[in-house]
Amino acid sequence: MSTDLIAFLKARLDDGWRTATFLRHGLPDAPSEQTFSYDFLLADVAAKRKIIDLHAPVVLRPGAEHGLVDRDRVVCRSCEPERGGLGDAWPCQTLRLLALPWADHPDFKATWRPQ
Ligand SMILES: [Zn+2]
Repeated sequence: MSTDLIAFLKARLDDGWRTATFLRHGLPDAPSEQTFSYDFLLADVAAKRKIIDLHAPVVLRPGAEHGLVDRDRVVCRSCEPERGGLGDAWPCQTLRLLALPWADHPDFKATWRPQ
């Protein structure tokens, strides 16, 4: 199971968190727009971390409960798997779109681009 997209996204969000902290403490007399930007960045990072958790991978195993699969299949825990598809359905479009702003990052994989 490939969970490196989650690690990648969390590392980029950690970068954003450190940047926001630097902006706040590096500019103690910053105008109100800076404070707003700091609060926004922290709220943005917190929300994206929750989105990542909601779209974690799960494995569907063959059996009566998932009669349509004949082998283990990796899908998103929140997104509806494609009906009739036999391939893995993770990472989902939501995670791919979250990662897209970092498409130029050296650790970004071309296979993560939205489909
Ligand atoms: Zn999803």
